[in-house]
Amino acid sequence: FAGLAGRVALVTGAGSGIGAATARRLAAEGCSVALVDRDEDAVSAVAAGCGRGALALTADVSEEADAAEYLRAAVARFGRVDLFHLNAGIPGPFGTFADVDVADYDRVVAVNQRGVLLGLRDALRHFRATARPGAVVVTSSLAGLRASAAIVPYTASKHAVIGLARSAAIEGAPLGVRVNVVAPGLIETPMQSPLAEALGGEPVVAALRAHSPLGRMGTADEVAALVAFLLSDEAPYITGAVHVIDGGVDAS
Ligand code: NAD
Repeated sequence: FAGLAGRVALVTGAGSGIGAATARRLAAEGCSVALVDRDEDAVSAVAAGCGRGALALTADVSEEADAAEYLRAAVARFGRVDLFHLNAGIPGPFGTFADVDVADYDRVVAVNQRGVLLGLRDALRHFRATARPGAVVVTSSLAGLRASAAIVPYTASKHAVIGLARSAAIEGAPLGVRVNVVAPGLIETPMQSPLAEALGGEPVVAALRAHSPLGRMGTADEVAALVAFLLSDEAPYITGAVHVIDGGVDAS
């Protein structure tokens, strides 16, 4: 996509799944990439596949000090960051309201919601300080748009990041910063294993696949292509919007 070559991109949750696919795609488009994940081995392995110069950073996005440090380290290496994919997230726990445990709720919200809050806050501070334009994509989920009684903390956190991102889009607009959200449906990544297990294993997964009008789950590379487009100069009038990528599940 136009405008990606030569840019500096930072991707969180880049050690696996969608984040790893985005990091690889942006590197292939000619970006310098900083990959952030709490899993040091995983993020180092993905960075090694992103070409020379890719920077692997180990950080927990839910920790304020870690969030400041990963951005500082990326700026120290590349001089600036132009593009952010705030994507790190965790699933579960599964169950109805009756099952919700406050400690689990806080854990999910800390990563999925506070992690995005810190990422957006620090990105906007960075854009303001450098007076450079940029773009941000936040990963929500179809669970951020639809009710789900079976996965309450996750659903709440994924709704919340849409509010955060759309607010950041308003604040970012005068700075030349666009902020968008992707809302994937079922994507085949390692995150799907606990989900599949909790929901009842392979027969349920087969039913979920069939639920999509396209008859399959999506791939991480397909989400990465959407993220790369939204971060590129080919999407100059798109901001503050939620982009569903779900094989038609939401339409059916
Ligand atoms: P994944 O488990 O394959 O990858 C998530 C990565 O995030 C892992 O490498 C993990 O180590 C990292 N991570 C988790 N907590 C972290 C933290 N506190 N700090 C830093 N890194 C952390 O999952 P995925 O399917 O690629 O999910 C990526 C994003 O997409 C998540 O936000 C998820 O909620 C969202 N999503 C996934 C699906 C799906 O079907 N796979 C659907 C909708 C939304």
